[in-house]
Amino acid sequence: MGNSVQDHATLADTFNKDEERVEWHDNTLWWIRQKRDKAAHGIIEWEELRETASQIKNNVLSNLSEYLGQFEARAKENGIIIHWAADAKEHNEIVHGILQRLSINRMIKSKSMLTEECHLNEFLEQRGVEVIDSDLGERIVQLAEEPPSHIVLPCIHKKKEEIGQLFHEKLGTPAGNADPQFLTEAARQHMRDKFLTRRAALTGVNFAVAESGEFVVCTNEGNADIGAHLADVHIASMGIEKIIPERKHLGYFLRLLTRSATGQPITTYSSHFSTPRAGQEMHVILVDNGRSIHLGKPDFRNSLKCIRCAACMNTCPVYRRSGGHSYHTAVAGPIGSILAPNLDMRKYADLPFASTLCGSCSNVCPVKIDIHDQLYKWRQVLVKEGHAPALKKAGMQGMTLTLNNPGMYRFAGKAGRWFMRNVPFVLNNKMNPWFKQRDMPEPPKQSFTDWYKKNRKP
Ligand code: SF4
Repeated sequence: MGNSVQDHATLADTFNKDEERVEWHDNTLWWIRQKRDKAAHGIIEWEELRETASQIKNNVLSNLSEYLGQFEARAKENGIIIHWAADAKEHNEIVHGILQRLSINRMIKSKSMLTEECHLNEFLEQRGVEVIDSDLGERIVQLAEEPPSHIVLPCIHKKKEEIGQLFHEKLGTPAGNADPQFLTEAARQHMRDKFLTRRAALTGVNFAVAESGEFVVCTNEGNADIGAHLADVHIASMGIEKIIPERKHLGYFLRLLTRSATGQPITTYSSHFSTPRAGQEMHVILVDNGRSIHLGKPDFRNSLKCIRCAACMNTCPVYRRSGGHSYHTAVAGPIGSILAPNLDMRKYADLPFASTLCGSCSNVCPVKIDIHDQLYKWRQVLVKEGHAPALKKAGMQGMTLTLNNPGMYRFAGKAGRWFMRNVPFVLNNKMNPWFKQRDMPEPPKQSFTDWYKKNRKP
């Protein structure tokens, strides 16, 4: 940590400057967490569903190459063209190659965190391809020239008044109109022409079924469907971990996904794509981009079970009060903090420390990933690999020395109490981030050891 130019703490500090926004961001996400609880508690077999989904994913991770091979064979039989991409660059080049061959320079794209991870939009735009994000939240952040801050609610950091102003500037809506219904209708009108005039559509993949060679895309707006159905070429980008063995397994994941994400019983559209329509090309790009390396790390491999529901973000007290952009990676929050250091340990060394380790993320995860344990394990790896900042390292060494030496421990306690009582500003000042939003605690009159000596019964 400390190696990245802007780490989580610095970026969170910027987000925290707008206290009203922090309050509202926190409350909104907590409200979604509560909706999730209500939906989960409404199903008596919820824990059974979680356990089964977790076991299915464990099986997938243990037999990944077999299931991927099966999926490839079935999908090819269905008329789908399969590509393999080792990394983000290869993925982007494959997409560009398809568009180039068909002389297409405008593409519509539904929400895909994988393409965010690969920075596809920038890659294509640099090569003269215009990409339009069709998910409403994604389109808002695209118009604002910002990355998404949340994997399910990409513009959750924006207030409706800001969106009204953005639409006024970019889409010509009347100034001062921030009515969500009006703005949604304006976005629909704006998008209609894009859907009708794009020959290529890219979607993500929520689940790919090995036994049938089909893939499932879940959206609430139907934007993936309209884009893919109208286009001459449908490209689906998929992380290799999205595979599930059988069709019947979808029932578990579809019931868990949206209840965990937004508290809905099911996504409005869960669309199955298995074969291109007559005259259409359908491509699936299977992307590794660090996943097989992750799979080879026993302590972290089961984070590949993630179905990207975002429940861990909605419940995380750090995410709720620091905002998604402070994680400076495509997938923010607790799960992003596990996945990102796998891609670049130096750049993302700050993220596993952006957690209280309270365990709420692990409690809500529908596929039972031990998220907080993995964050704790990442910290140990990062320190061992030399990515802890010098100040923190020195502080920890000082603590080790003090805690190993009773005389020094007693002296430090006495000195601390004296400073807190007589010169509190030495500790409680703006230089110390801990005290920025906290009051100094009242120093105790005596240490516990002194109290114990006085009060212990013989
Ligand atoms: S780690 Fe679990 S809770 Fe977090 S996004 Fe993935 S599936 Fe959802």
